[in-house]
Amino acid sequence: MAKSLKIGIIGAGAAGMAAAWDLARAGHKVELFEAEPTVGGLAAGFKDEGWDWTLEKFYHHWFESDHDILKLSEEIGVRDKVIFPRPKTSYWIDDKIYRSEMNASMFGLPLSWPSLFRLGLAGVYLKFITRDWQALEQVTADAWMRRYMGQQTYDKLWKPLLIGKFSDLYTQVNMAWMWARIHSRSLHLGSFEGGFQAFLNALAEAIQKKGAVIHLSTPVQNVGSQDGKAALTINGQVQTFDRVISTSSPNLMLRLTPDLRETDYGKQMASLKSIGAICAVLALKQSVLTDGTYWLNLPATSADKASSQFPFLALVEHTNYQDKSHYGGDVLVYCGDYVSADHEYFKLSDDELIQRFLPALAKVNPNFKPDWIRKTWVWRAPYAQPVPGVGHSQNIPPLNTPLPGVYWASMSQVYPWDRGTNYAVEIGRRAAWEATRG
Ligand SMILES: Cc1cc2nc3c(=O)[nH]c(=O)nc-3n(C[C@H](O)[C@H](O)[C@H](O)COP(=O)(O)OP(=O)(O)OC[C@H]3O[C@@H](n4cnc5c(N)ncnc54)[C@H](O)[C@@H]3O)c2cc1C
Repeated sequence: MAKSLKIGIIGAGAAGMAAAWDLARAGHKVELFEAEPTVGGLAAGFKDEGWDWTLEKFYHHWFESDHDILKLSEEIGVRDKVIFPRPKTSYWIDDKIYRSEMNASMFGLPLSWPSLFRLGLAGVYLKFITRDWQALEQVTADAWMRRYMGQQTYDKLWKPLLIGKFSDLYTQVNMAWMWARIHSRSLHLGSFEGGFQAFLNALAEAIQKKGAVIHLSTPVQNVGSQDGKAALTINGQVQTFDRVISTSSPNLMLRLTPDLRETDYGKQMASLKSIGAICAVLALKQSVLTDGTYWLNLPATSADKASSQFPFLALVEHTNYQDKSHYGGDVLVYCGDYVSADHEYFKLSDDELIQRFLPALAKVNPNFKPDWIRKTWVWRAPYAQPVPGVGHSQNIPPLNTPLPGVYWASMSQVYPWDRGTNYAVEIGRRAAWEATRG
């Protein structure tokens, strides 16, 4: 390395910490500024009294194809704590639970033989044959799936999932997004002994050992430049850096960086679409998904929650994936949904939201009683899922911004792969490399 640089990183999520790992190891002087009191960002977890493991605020797992995060876990010496169980994932169709795997169990789906044949053929094409996502991004998932999988399969399987994930933006999502999910996902789902937070804490410890400094509960208030250098305002004080890498959302980044707003880059950032997420977590005395299902996709029959068959998209019984003994014997269930940041789900009180969701549990398991609930939590993230439209690759801002020394690496620039901690690590490391090359 020619010269040691002073580098400021905004955000101690997976991207910011992966960047810090490479930069600190290369001998740069790295400081991370994190607004929250813990590291981890969207992948962070929480722990109740009596639990040995943390639980992710929003359900999280890795896939066997998540090479970047697996490699990082090896580099920081914790690969042996990565675990890959094979939980059961299912769909709710016509009031019954069906397996949702791409294998012989597909024959049990309530579809006609021609529909099953088309589903199998299109599934094999997407999973094993094509890698041409550039062609697939020229068409919407809505149009492609309707055409190649057929109307019945689209209406029963895919449309409810797309509506659930993207709400009324569902007809805009391109087919490359769907391809990436089908192409790269595995049946075994990975986690970390102790929960994702334990992995993120191990990463934080590793980067600190290499000399990086993490400032928690320290929001950056402004990003600009001073004397030709990148400048951050923190606690009202301006500090200059040779390089700054921000990992915040497009909206936050634009708020932090007034100088970007009128640039073409800033306008491109402002045009990026995304959707928020909410997760209600229930600690229960008994199992709801008694057939052992970990992940149950509930059909969103309309973007309007009041007229949809279910008020949320995913019913996830975490303790059908990780043993409940890690959580003091609690059965842990997520009720998860994706809605825009101005949706009423972001405004309702936690209790009001949970009351909206409980009838769905009773629908799935008629024995469910509200007195099974020991405790509840509600987590909300206004920026949770980018929405990639047709031709999206042309709309992604590069990592280097027009501001001197300022780089931006966010979920919105992860593409064609769907956002995830694996790709946060990849983009964080790429930003570190771009910020310091030559
Ligand atoms: C519902 C849901 C389910 C998901 N499921 C999975 C999954 O199964 N598997 C998977 O791998 N991924 C999953 N993800 C995605 C994964 O969480 C993200 O891709 C990843 O955590 C993004 O990391 P990041 O570092 O880019 O951003 P973030 O995690 O958002 O980190 C950005 C950090 O910047 C901080 N920050 C922002 N502004 C400031 C400021 N002004 N000053 C200081 N700090 C600031 C934030 O507090 C945050 O900690 C899921 C996400 C959601 C919402």
